[in-house]
Amino acid sequence: MGFFTKDADQDKWKNKYLKLFDEQQQFVIEESEKQALLCKTIIRLSLAASGFDAQLDAHLQNIRAHLEQGINNNILKQDLENFATVLGDINTISPQKHSLSTELLFNFLLRQYTSTPHQAALQALKIASESSDIVNHEQLFGTILAILNTDLSSTDPSKSITHTIDIKIVSNQLLRLLEAIDIPIVFNKQAQAVKHELMTVNDSTPFQAVLDKSINLLLKVKQHNQLERQDIDKFLTHITQQLTELGQTVHGASESAMESELMRNKLDSSVSAQMEALQISSSTATKLESLKEIINERLVCITLEIQDHTQKESIHRKKTQLQLEELTLKVKHMEAESNDLKVKLKQASDQALRDALTKLPNRLAYEDRLQNEFARWKRYHMPLSMIIWDIDLFKRVNDEFGHKYGDEVLKIISKKLSEHCRETDFVSRFGGEEFIMLLPNTDKQMAIRLANQLRYIIEQTDFNFNGKQSTPITISCGITEFIEDDSAETAFDRADNALYRAKQQGRNLCCDD
Ligand code: GH3
Ligand code: MG
Ligand code: MG
Repeated sequence: MGFFTKDADQDKWKNKYLKLFDEQQQFVIEESEKQALLCKTIIRLSLAASGFDAQLDAHLQNIRAHLEQGINNNILKQDLENFATVLGDINTISPQKHSLSTELLFNFLLRQYTSTPHQAALQALKIASESSDIVNHEQLFGTILAILNTDLSSTDPSKSITHTIDIKIVSNQLLRLLEAIDIPIVFNKQAQAVKHELMTVNDSTPFQAVLDKSINLLLKVKQHNQLERQDIDKFLTHITQQLTELGQTVHGASESAMESELMRNKLDSSVSAQMEALQISSSTATKLESLKEIINERLVCITLEIQDHTQKESIHRKKTQLQLEELTLKVKHMEAESNDLKVKLKQASDQALRDALTKLPNRLAYEDRLQNEFARWKRYHMPLSMIIWDIDLFKRVNDEFGHKYGDEVLKIISKKLSEHCRETDFVSRFGGEEFIMLLPNTDKQMAIRLANQLRYIIEQTDFNFNGKQSTPITISCGITEFIEDDSAETAFDRADNALYRAKQQGRNLCCDD
């Protein structure tokens, strides 16, 4: 049963998903804002050009009218082509006016189309038009349209630089998304494979297939989470039922105890009544014989009452006994279930906080621990240091030896880092090939010493395994100690900057802030 994902985790996952969704929406908004700006600019340009030539005016008017339907409509495209043709036919434009308007046009286009291929092609065309390689307006506008159209609807996407950039952006976003969500353990292998594919996409990768795999995985995770939700609901219903039954049994037992008490009281009052009657009768009896009779009569009554009571009491006791046995069984059953649940919850929370590959605490666990250590540091003012590690040139390791080898390297480095720390130190895989350490009761000098020991240990490690040729692998880090007025973020930024310097200064280095 998988009812252990905490609501908070799911919320976190959902929030991260929503954040990405928001970014996407922001992108769409910015795109439409750009388009609106482009429309506005074309309208202004067309107004500025009005009155220049009667033939052109009619076309400019059409363009303005059709721009209201948005920039991506076919009629507008036709208008622009017609406009270009007419403009090309006009021979009355003076050379000076021509160069002025083409310069304006190029300035405008270069500002609007900022992608590298657009810029390169437009710059080249501008130079060609300035050096009079292109004298005919029709040719010039035709070429401009061709440039703009080619990049917007390229038939060979693998040759477009924009396309390559888009693939990288999309794959990075997907990677971030996969890093951010909690992947259920059953999908770990699949997730690892998808991540590797996303990390290694290039121009020749059939990107559609990678995209399909990523989306497929995300859908499966979503479905899995929905099933977990259903499991939780089922479990809660089950528990509620059990508690209701238990309540009923307890109620039954207490009712039965009350019944028993009532019976006893009834017997008491009945015996007392018989005794009273006996007393009255005996005080009025005159003959010994009649007194004997009276006493006998009363004794028989009392004996019958007691027999009746004993019988009822025995039935009642059996009933209560049964109820108690039933109750004990139910409690035992619930105890067993609750123990089972505790174990599963522990496993689930361990799993949610551990990185599947290296078995180190993951980023979520790091954030939890950071909060605790930060609060402790604020309260007790004992030194607290942070080290951010990053494997040097790890991409090259992957490229040269393959991702599987890279994964093994990550495992070994994780093991070495945690083996050589104190029990109280915290080591986590922050993401990719980055690790973060939190060192309580450790000042900066101690942290620097530890960092250099660890750096040296990794430098000396033989990464020759599975018959693969060994390659020297090094790590670098940034070190900081928490200082007054620090927030968790300011300390992180200092360590991160120090790491950046370590990389700048040649790697296999430990830098402090
Ligand atoms: P630098 O010294 O500047 O840190 O260079 P780098 O190559 O290590 O840095 P970069 O950030 O460019 O590359 C990090 C690489 O780590 C890219 C990615 O392929 C690899 N990586 C991240 N996560 C994993 C993983 O889980 N397994 C493997 N095998 N590689 C991973
Ligand atoms: Mg890195
Ligand atoms: Mg690195």
